[in-house]
Parts: sequence; structure tokens; C-alpha cells
Amino acid sequence: MTDQLLEIDSLTVAAGTKDNETTIIEDISFSLKTGEVLGVVGESGSGKTVTCRALIRLFPTRDMRIASGSIRLAGEELTTLDEREFASVRGSKIGMIFQNPASHLDPVMSIGAQLAESLEHHQTPRGKEARNEARNLLRQVGIPDPDYRFKDYPHQFSGGMRQRVMIALALACNPTVLIADEPTTALDVTVQAQILRLLLDLRDTRGLSIILVTHDLGIVAQTCDSIVVMYAGRVCERGPKRTVISSPSHPYTAKLIACQPANVVASVLPNISGQPPYQSEMPKGCRFHPRCDFAFDRCRTEIPVLAAISERHVAACHLAKRSNP
Ligand code: SF4
Repeated sequence: MTDQLLEIDSLTVAAGTKDNETTIIEDISFSLKTGEVLGVVGESGSGKTVTCRALIRLFPTRDMRIASGSIRLAGEELTTLDEREFASVRGSKIGMIFQNPASHLDPVMSIGAQLAESLEHHQTPRGKEARNEARNLLRQVGIPDPDYRFKDYPHQFSGGMRQRVMIALALACNPTVLIADEPTTALDVTVQAQILRLLLDLRDTRGLSIILVTHDLGIVAQTCDSIVVMYAGRVCERGPKRTVISSPSHPYTAKLIACQPANVVASVLPNISGQPPYQSEMPKGCRFHPRCDFAFDRCRTEIPVLAAISERHVAACHLAKRSNP
């Protein structure tokens, strides 16, 4: 019996036809406990968004699909569900909020009507009861004067308020897991902190488990319990936040940490030299080797596997110091 709520095991997503298939993410494994906040970090193109979209089968392109691996939610295998069966998981058990709430809200429908409609679709309240519950949800996510704002349209809300509404819409389905894909990227720093605080409050009050997808390690440091670091479609390091941030075992993680503005002592902000590889030009061996300061011959031919560094801490680097078996 496991205490994990969500378990992703060796998940691989491919795109294209069977004869001309491209692997987008490969052999991804991680898990999430009830009430845990897990950060998935990496640069653009690392596969973090595809990984999370795979959990609700909302892929960025129509030709993407789960090629192999397992996703279990509360012990139930999700990859074998057909589309009709999976409809009861998407939204209802696993909710998602996105970077740009404006493009996910109906511009010609009031905020209250959208929320009430979602409640009626996913839960039992109808009519007045649904509208009252919608006002309650607006209150819970910190919309001031919800009775008045209920009738407003999305364009009458600020970016931060629209993200709060997106969170309320996700909560209307009463999910156990919430995936937040770069939820604060488009917001200024003060509003960003408020939205992150709201997510943590919801974790505390509802026991919500959260997967926070971000390119910003600083946000993970403030918010998360554990971290998955992705590079070029693979997990390169995973573990408890404090352990990974204080003792990174993968050179890519170490570089991400060194590039955080709070850690920079020089007047010039450092960066990670080079670019992440294109899908069509994945390097052999360790995919990070063209950008790694420590690369040696073995790195160019042999793929490093994830190996235990300490309890719950794993890294995929030939130089990572393994714990004793
Ligand atoms: Fe660098 Fe080699 Fe480790 Fe890859 S396996 S991160 S190239 S040292």
C-alpha cells in the first residue's frame, strides 16, 4: 500500500505517426502525496508542460499521445481509460490552471454565470444554489465584494483577478490534484506572491495536492515541498526541495540555482551557455553534455540513469555521488 496520491511511472509521450514517431518526453517518473506541492522546473522545451498536459490528456498538439508508462491516481490506472471514462477524471479529479487566464475565460459570459455553469456541470447544485456556491467560491479565492463582481465580465477583471477566477473554476470541479502551469508568469511580483499564497492556503484548507510548473526556481524555493528538474524531455534530478536546492547533484540544477537573482553576487546576471537541443537534434548520451562544464567522454555516448543520491533524492549524472546500496 502506498501513501502516494498520484504516481507517474516511466511515462513516455510521442508525436507523429507510428512510422515517423518523435519522442517528446521520455521515461518520466515522480509521485505526489495528498497536500504536497511539487514543483516541475526547467527551461522552455524541457517537456514540463507536456508532462503535465499528459496527466489530463490535453496535449499541445493533436498528434501527441502517451506511448508507454503508467499514471495512477489513488491507485486507479488512468492510461487505460477510454475517452468517455477519462472525462470523469479531467477537471473533476485533476484540475488545471494556465498561464493566460484571459484565453480560457468566455469573454461574453459573466464570471458568475461561468462559475455557476461549471458547478452545474460537475456537481449537483442547480439554479440559485449554484449561483450562491459560485459567490462562495469567488469569496474563497479572494475576489473582493463577490456579490457585486459576480455579474462582471472577464475584461473588467485585472490579470491577477482573472487568475483567481481560473482557480475558482478549477475548484468548482472539486479536484484532488491541481496542476498550475506557469500560473504567475504574466503577473507582476506582488500579484504573483498573492496567487502563490492563495494556492498554499487552498492546499491547507482543502488538502489539495498541487503540481506547480514553472521556469522559475525562486518560486519553487518559496512554495514547494519537492522538485522535479527536467531537461530535454527527461527528468535529470528529483527530490525534497531543501535537499535539491542545498545540495544539487546534477550540473543543470546547480546552474539553474546559480542563475537565480538572489544568488548572484556579480553585477552581471549569469546564464547557462548554449541552448536546449531541438527535438530533431537530441545529443547522444547525456542530453546536457554540450552545455555541461564537467562533460567527459562517457557523457557523449552513455545515457546517465536516475540513481539514488540519498533518501528520495535521485539524479541522472555520471558524476553524481551515489548512496551506498
Ligand atoms: Fe555533465 Fe556528464 Fe553529468 Fe551529463 S552526465 S550532467 S554531461 S557530467
